[in-house]
Amino acid sequence: MLDLTRGADLWRRASSVLAGGVDSPVRAGKPVGGPVMVREASGAYVIDADGRRLVDYLMAYGPLLLGHAHPALTRDLDRAAARGTLYGCTHEEEVRLAERLRGHMPSLERIRFTNSGTESVMSAIRVARAFTGRDAVLRFAGNYHGHFDQALLDAGASANAAGAGPSGIPAGVARDTIVCRYNDLDHVDEALRAHGARLAAIMVEPVVGNMGLVHPLPGFLEGLRRRTERVGALLIFDEVITGFRLGLGGAQARCGVMPDLTTLGKVLGGGYPLAAFGGRAEVMAVLAPEGSVFQGGTLSGNPFCVEIAHRLLDVLEGDSGLLPRMRALGERLAEGLRSALRACDLRYPVVHDESIVDFMFRCSDRPHRNYDEAKQGDAAAYAAFYQEMLAEGVLLAPSQNEVMFLSAAHAEEDVDRTVLAARSALARMRERGVV
Ligand code: PMP
Repeated sequence: MLDLTRGADLWRRASSVLAGGVDSPVRAGKPVGGPVMVREASGAYVIDADGRRLVDYLMAYGPLLLGHAHPALTRDLDRAAARGTLYGCTHEEEVRLAERLRGHMPSLERIRFTNSGTESVMSAIRVARAFTGRDAVLRFAGNYHGHFDQALLDAGASANAAGAGPSGIPAGVARDTIVCRYNDLDHVDEALRAHGARLAAIMVEPVVGNMGLVHPLPGFLEGLRRRTERVGALLIFDEVITGFRLGLGGAQARCGVMPDLTTLGKVLGGGYPLAAFGGRAEVMAVLAPEGSVFQGGTLSGNPFCVEIAHRLLDVLEGDSGLLPRMRALGERLAEGLRSALRACDLRYPVVHDESIVDFMFRCSDRPHRNYDEAKQGDAAAYAAFYQEMLAEGVLLAPSQNEVMFLSAAHAEEDVDRTVLAARSALARMRERGVV
């Protein structure tokens, strides 16, 4: 019999000292019946507090493109630290990193480093407001941009903002936040008729990873570009998930639409707190000291995290086969899951893009396109699947809004084991009538 007492004891301790037991609400695992407490992690695996070795598809919600504790990102860190971990002054490697990023993403004419995706998006929005002299922002339901005021309200991931008052979001901020349906330009047009003249920016995940995996329909991003130009607003691409995971040029290189501003995080820092935002030089010029918008941070651009980002880019630039191998692994996982679902006569579309794989417990001939459709996913079925997979030694995200992230550390055997686990899990669920 599996002894799970250590994890349970640790969760009791966590709950009595951390608010809600966690530093980020999703980690409590409420939708799936409880948290997993982790002891350590390596490669494609985490070891939980009770010693279970789990194939990890959570991958810390996306940053760990190379897997846990990749040698390129852990080797000789004492030497990096010995040169000083924080200067409070601009340094050469920070400049070189910005140059490298701009080499991959030419829309980043000017860049600022921050410490989290939240900070990057929050700052990009302030820049857009100052540049346009307008207050309102149009966003899409089911996209997630971090935990600052204007990013919540109908956000995806595990945000669950319960309206302005109870969520601690000022009513004024809610009035300046216009939420539209993803992939629905008619809805955007309706909003623009009412609010176009006071719109500072349209902010969008160019491929969404926060309501499951959702692709933009052909013409959607191009349509947003044309509309922002027409109404005099900026277009912000939130590439915190897609940046470097979908290729070194991000989603924007693939779709050919140039945003005015871009936000980056997650993969860029390789699991360390580093993020960035940037865009057109003329727009970024509103930032102090050139302009009047203050934005900055004690830890921003620190040499330690910058070193990690260089190492990550060294790996990606030095091995042009790495992302294609991950794409092939993603395809293998997606195909395996499709066959596991077919074996149980279940019609849930499996979606795949590079190293991201996803399916919802929602019967349909086509993948969901927006948050209304994502919310039709059967949460109880997902919770049962999560628990069955955990019992099989596979760690999934504790919410159906999240996706499966592969890393360079996952091997074909891991994927094949996962597919077998899914077959057994789904068959047991079928027997019990859960699906
Ligand atoms: N934007 C997107 C698209 C994200 O997925 C996230 C995090 N899941 C954020 C912004 C916020 O990043 P962070 O958690 O680093 O603040």
